Amino acid sequence: TATRELLLSRIRDVHDHPEPGIVFKDITPLLADPAAFAALTGTFAEMCARLGATKIVGLEARGFILAAPVAVSAGVGFIPVRKAGKLPGATLRQAYELEYGTAEIEVHAEDLAPGDRVLVIDDVLATGGTAEASLELIRRAGAEVVGVAVLMELGFLQGRARLEPALGGAPLEAV
Ligand code: IMP
Repeated sequence: TATRELLLSRIRDVHDHPEPGIVFKDITPLLADPAAFAALTGTFAEMCARLGATKIVGLEARGFILAAPVAVSAGVGFIPVRKAGKLPGATLRQAYELEYGTAEIEVHAEDLAPGDRVLVIDDVLATGGTAEASLELIRRAGAEVVGVAVLMELGFLQGRARLEPALGGAPLEAV
């Protein structure tokens, strides 16, 4: 669609960032274009309504930028999932595997409860490890995952396949 073409045209490939051999997908041109940013927020807000989400989880850090305006326009709460050690209150913590080593993310335990229907938003799905760990956190809190929305998927990293079991039938949608 025209919207999809607009959005993808505003993502910049940065070669050799953050390391040699990596092509980094930079979304800052999209954020700087108000028509594109509004189109993306609108697409995510429609998904939120279609799935009947009652809360939106954003993944640190670019996921925060995309998820917060969607939460406001959809009229649902915004919940940050952060790298371990940042959130001040009582948290649930989840470790996950990286290519080299492990990482940990956290959510405030009081932010999610049984009965919540949660849409997870991030910019890029790469290996799927971060999204997978976030789905574990949401389920451990007793809440239901109704979908994962990303701007783009790096297909060659097979994140969709890694995420599939944790999705439990919920959709993973890229614009
Ligand atoms: P994953 O856990 O391997 O799927 O990595 C996903 C996380 O890394 C997301 O939170 C993304 O924001 C970030 N990420 C990985 N690759 C890129 C990229 O090329 N551009 C922007 N963010 C990326």
